[in-house]
Amino acid sequence: MKDSYGREINYMRISITDRCDLRCRYCMPEEGIEKVSMNRILTYEEILRICRAAVSIGITRFKITGGEPLVRRGCTALVREIKELPGVEQVTLTTNGQQLLPHLDELAEAGIDGLNISLDSLREDRYHHITGGGQLSNVLEAIDACIDKGIRTKVNCLLQKQFNEDEICDFAAFAFEKGIDVRFIEIMPVGFGNPDTGLSNDEALSRLKEKYPSLEKDERVHGNGPAVYYRLPGSEAVKGGAIGLISAMHHRFCDSCNRIRLTSLGLLKPCLCYEEGTDLKEALHAAQRTGGDETDVDAAIRNALEETLRRKPQGHTFQDRATVEPRAMSQIGG
Ligand code: SAM
Ligand code: SF4
Repeated sequence: MKDSYGREINYMRISITDRCDLRCRYCMPEEGIEKVSMNRILTYEEILRICRAAVSIGITRFKITGGEPLVRRGCTALVREIKELPGVEQVTLTTNGQQLLPHLDELAEAGIDGLNISLDSLREDRYHHITGGGQLSNVLEAIDACIDKGIRTKVNCLLQKQFNEDEICDFAAFAFEKGIDVRFIEIMPVGFGNPDTGLSNDEALSRLKEKYPSLEKDERVHGNGPAVYYRLPGSEAVKGGAIGLISAMHHRFCDSCNRIRLTSLGLLKPCLCYEEGTDLKEALHAAQRTGGDETDVDAAIRNALEETLRRKPQGHTFQDRATVEPRAMSQIGG
């Protein structure tokens, strides 16, 4: 379905939990955030129902996120069930990688189309510090296993001044050696994120070009998102691998936005930046209360989806900090 600015919306990010086994400093305070009881969050059955309605209006690609999605029991079964819905083209998952390895076989069997793995440092002490206790080896082993299994793998790295800015070229080398995409993400003023601590991707690119002068724009399509990719030219690119720049702060990409977000509480958010959304869980329950049959309930969800898409704003205002989303990124899903 097209929104009122003519953008084709075909991608939904679904947060299945706001809980997490890590405490990344820009995302969650050390003590965590107030836990939402399990009976307030969408059940898997409700999520599947919403996905079915979403497919009927042209949303065919889904990303499972969180919090940490792998801490919610049954996550891999949900992946399988979404994959099995007629019309679904792609299901991917974003994870911090801590518990990925033990779930990998099941995810592969479920037909996962790709994994995004968050990794902000390649140095054990720094990784442990920024994630509030994560173990780097868990992530690195999981990445290698993904590559061995042939699962499309992307690493997401949030660059911060005076923290990991000296690792930009290490991450590039990592991408080229492993033959995977590493994407640098600019920190956004959502939840606990403070863009003043972030490094601009323009700066990251200029440092990359000093080390890799032959770096060239990579025009191939790498996924559903707004990343702009760079790679080494043919003769130098042994395994492939590319650097992606996701520059929400310095290069607004709202004109090509294709997505919508569903939080674990069932709020459908047309734009990451704003607090507003539609309570899809309530819409679903209200339709069930009125005693309509299954078709009526599905129609109610579809109407709520369409109505929310029509209200999708033209663009974010991250530069105007007063208007942005106060929820933590762990509650929205990134
Ligand atoms: N726990 C999973 C993970 O870390 O991949 C999934 C959820 S996490 C909220 C998704 C992504 O959001 C992570 O890559 C994280 O680095 C990113 N993120 C969190 N806070 C952010 C912020 N303020 N600005 C930009 N990205 C942020
Ligand atoms: Fe957890 Fe992901 Fe947030 Fe880190 S970025 S605290 S792993 S939800």
